[in-house]
Amino acid sequence: AAFESLSSRLQNVFGKLRGKGKVSEDDVNEAMREVRLALLEADVNFKVVKDFIAKVKERAIGQEVMKSFTPGMVIIDIVNKELTELMGGTQSKLAKANKPPTVIMMAGLQGAGKTTTSGKLAKLLQKANHKPLLVACDIYRPAAIKQLEVLGSQINVPVFTLGDQVSPVEIARQSLQHAKDNHYDYVIIDTAGRLHIDEALMEELKQIHESVKPDEVLLIVDSMTGQDAVNVAKSFHEQLELTGVILTKLDGDTRGGAALSVKAVTGQPIKFAAMGEKIDSLEPFHPDRMASRILGMGDMLSLIEKAQAGIDAEKAAEMERKMRNAEFTFDDFLDQMEQVRKMGPLDQLLEMMPGMNKVKGLKDMKVDDKQIGRVEAIVRSMTKEEKQKPELLNHSRRKRIAAGSGTTIAEVNRLIKQFDDMRKMMKQFTSMMGPKGPKGGKK
Ligand code: GDP
Repeated sequence: AAFESLSSRLQNVFGKLRGKGKVSEDDVNEAMREVRLALLEADVNFKVVKDFIAKVKERAIGQEVMKSFTPGMVIIDIVNKELTELMGGTQSKLAKANKPPTVIMMAGLQGAGKTTTSGKLAKLLQKANHKPLLVACDIYRPAAIKQLEVLGSQINVPVFTLGDQVSPVEIARQSLQHAKDNHYDYVIIDTAGRLHIDEALMEELKQIHESVKPDEVLLIVDSMTGQDAVNVAKSFHEQLELTGVILTKLDGDTRGGAALSVKAVTGQPIKFAAMGEKIDSLEPFHPDRMASRILGMGDMLSLIEKAQAGIDAEKAAEMERKMRNAEFTFDDFLDQMEQVRKMGPLDQLLEMMPGMNKVKGLKDMKVDDKQIGRVEAIVRSMTKEEKQKPELLNHSRRKRIAAGSGTTIAEVNRLIKQFDDMRKMMKQFTSMMGPKGPKGGKK
């Protein structure tokens, strides 16, 4: 997964700090040395790393970390804040023209994901009740126009094209008039890319820029290309005055270099992140969430949002009450599995939860319909008492349940184990949330 190695290295560093009752200045220096190495290894720009470490150290010393009750936590908090800052601080929204249409120019190297992302952005805008128009200005890559048209038809967004015999500058210019005449409020211009930056490409992009005066010039950056991507971003910015960046392929196992350096190097914020090939896999980029995800604190906010979208609120409240009072039973377990299944891929959710990657067995817990059927059969073969008090389930009872449900003892054992894990997870989750939402009550 993305940031995996950086994330586990940082967690290691902080794990060591957290384990200590007292933290000396040497401990902090040692930790910072390791953080520095971890960032460099993640392909973060050298100068960015240097500044980052300096800032963290300064804050750490200023805040009397060493005297704090929980010095480890204070340092994690500082690093978290600085990482957030590094990626732009707060979420950066799309600009909006005073008078529609808002013109968005998409730029980037070939293969970065420009065309795909243009489609995704159109979809996102459409979902927010806008009327976007896609414009095919890549007349060089043979299938680019067709690709955009296919994307457009998938999401019912029209594509403005004049074929590949008219100059991109002219296409862009005419598309704007077309958008005005037909009341489109966003125009997304997909431009050509090359494998490397070259003069001709830049010249053309500049001319398009000059002709349509875009409100946004978004650079599409393939996050898998690490620091190279950042160098590319820098020269694009020098020529074209970017207004933002879209990171693509964050679903791959990127080390993190691009995400962590691009804002610092170009001064332009990451506005969106693409995490998959599907048309709906583009999301506004949240620096704070990304930072806490990198630190393995879990993307609590995303999780909560997801959970809210997928979960029946009344049921969830009831469930929470039960968990607090340790009344969580096998019937609830069944219910919970259903809920989780509705929320989406379990492994993605787990990845977001603090420490969850460490609960053994959960990773293998596949929640599909077939599995739910078998779980249901097992639970139904339990007596009422057994469902309430799982500790009653000794070997002979398990044997009876396996026979009754047409499953095997191994399956019954596995389920009981998962149930226990789930209970633990819920406990951890609720205690973290505290009585009034996320611990610390920040934000
Ligand atoms: P362009 O040359 O910049 O227009 O790039 P394309 O839009 O054609 O994308 C190049 C390839 O990257 C395609 O195979 C896309 O499906 C793929 N791609 C784009 N964005 C993502 C992403 O967020 N995740 C993954 N896994 N693949 C992506």
